[in-house]
Amino acid sequence: MVSEDVRFKDIRRVGRDWVIKGEVRSRTRPGTWHSVEVRIRRLRSGEIAIIGRCDCEAFVKGHMVCWHILHMTNVFIRNRRKLISGFRVSVN
Ligand SMILES: [Zn+2]
Repeated sequence: MVSEDVRFKDIRRVGRDWVIKGEVRSRTRPGTWHSVEVRIRRLRSGEIAIIGRCDCEAFVKGHMVCWHILHMTNVFIRNRRKLISGFRVSVN
């Protein structure tokens, strides 16, 4: 386990993107986990593109880029090598 706040369910390499599915712990409701899916691409320009969805209220009702999407992305990037070796990553 690389983070107490994030459970990774699926990690795939799709072309130049990483497609990550998992759950992120709610910071306001202990015991609640949010379902998160993100697609991450590092552009040749050095910029990073993140496309994501979450089932939390901030995202669903507030249409905000919520903390869960950003947090899962950052935990993935920080622990990428460890996570990839732990998952059988399929490359399409
Ligand atoms: Zn969220």
